[in-house]
Amino acid sequence: TDQLSVSPTALVDLEELDKKHYLHPTTIPKIHAEQGPKLSFTEGNGIYVKDTKGDEYIDGLSMLWNVNLGHGNQELANTAKEQMTKLAFSSSFAGYSNEPAVRLAEKMTSMAPGDLNAVFYTSGGSESNDTAFKLSRFYWSMKGKPEKKKIISLKQGYHGVTIAAQTATAIPLFHQFSSSGISDVFHAKPHLTDCELGGRSHPDYEGSIRDIVEKEGADTIAAVIVEPVQGSGGVHMPPDGYLEAVRKLCDEFGILFIADEVICGFGRTGKMFGVDNWDVVPDLMCVAKGISSGYSQLGGVLIKQEIRDTLVQYDQVLAHGFTYSGHPTACAVALKNIEILERDEVVANVKSMEHELNAGFEYLKDKHPTVTKTRALGLLAGFELYKDRDEEIPFDSSILPSTEVVEECFNRKLILRPLASQVGRNIVAIAPPLIINKRQVEDMVAIIDDSISDFEKKHL
Ligand code: PLP
Repeated sequence: TDQLSVSPTALVDLEELDKKHYLHPTTIPKIHAEQGPKLSFTEGNGIYVKDTKGDEYIDGLSMLWNVNLGHGNQELANTAKEQMTKLAFSSSFAGYSNEPAVRLAEKMTSMAPGDLNAVFYTSGGSESNDTAFKLSRFYWSMKGKPEKKKIISLKQGYHGVTIAAQTATAIPLFHQFSSSGISDVFHAKPHLTDCELGGRSHPDYEGSIRDIVEKEGADTIAAVIVEPVQGSGGVHMPPDGYLEAVRKLCDEFGILFIADEVICGFGRTGKMFGVDNWDVVPDLMCVAKGISSGYSQLGGVLIKQEIRDTLVQYDQVLAHGFTYSGHPTACAVALKNIEILERDEVVANVKSMEHELNAGFEYLKDKHPTVTKTRALGLLAGFELYKDRDEEIPFDSSILPSTEVVEECFNRKLILRPLASQVGRNIVAIAPPLIINKRQVEDMVAIIDDSISDFEKKHL
């Protein structure tokens, strides 16, 4: 039909080629090789994306929590074209530089909290976290403490999939995939519920960050890495005082605090950076995703002044870097992305859409006995599904409630993401583009409402 954006024959061809030649992240290769792609995107506009069949979906997760300014943004596209036409790429190794990378460094450090005054560029989140670990170790070795190497991350934290980042990622699936990892990474209990933070009296004390520090010895620990809000691990908000307590603990023991802002950074949580919600200043801050709204592959590690001052004191080579560190086109796009965020007051929109989404959550909780633990910080949001929410009794393990509800939403043309909690696959994550409006939030909630109704009809 006219509606198809790819002809039916070409569509079949594409699927066959995809099955044969394209190995996809987080799929089961056997199933993909048999069934092919779930859908194949062709174009996007705002919060909407179209597939090869011409069907339009609401992108309720900003793809991978990253397309923050939404799809089809012409200003970003034009900026990329202009920069590519002028100078698509230049090296940043061995002292070479370029204007967009410098301007972006100045801009980001002026926006970042505290004295995070210098940046090292990468091409994404995993590279940023690996870089943060290496810079932390490099820093300690310059301070005459080369034995400070260990990294502590939180259980359920997601920090990416390069080998060091994957070791810090404390979601079992990612360790089951490949046994390779680095040594010297420890996973601390997340304290996802209210607790006396790190206090000896708390029953969760065993395995807490403090416990690990005391057991391993602070003089062996380089850094603690924490997502301000855990994303892929289940959209978990830190309890009140949590990040402040991590900051205090790091100061007490002389350990660097790395904030993984890969999802939270650049407006997602209703503040420019996730840590800004708590007035906490990390020593290193890893960014990616929202830095460019996904229009270019870019990440970075911001470091505080004192780390930078230490690095510039000695004659040691910073023997680290990626071909695409400081990529001029990627940096030009990020600069424009930040300009639009500020000009269009996008972060204020995030805050008001958080209220709309919360109103939707209240409605869903009133209507559906399975829905609970709704949460939203800015447009980083989610809810959980239980057979009995008051007693927190999960559905039978043969049922994957969030997978089913997300599938129902998908059938109604809303893309969301199911995540797992301790009791099974029962968390639904919601993170639409930050430019979403009230009516569009209501559209999402209406689809979720109908989807849960169908799920409850089947299972209650
Ligand atoms: N850190 C966090 C908090 C993330 O959510 C992700 C990706 O989802 C990463 C790191 C890894 O980023 P990338 O996939 O760009 O390597």
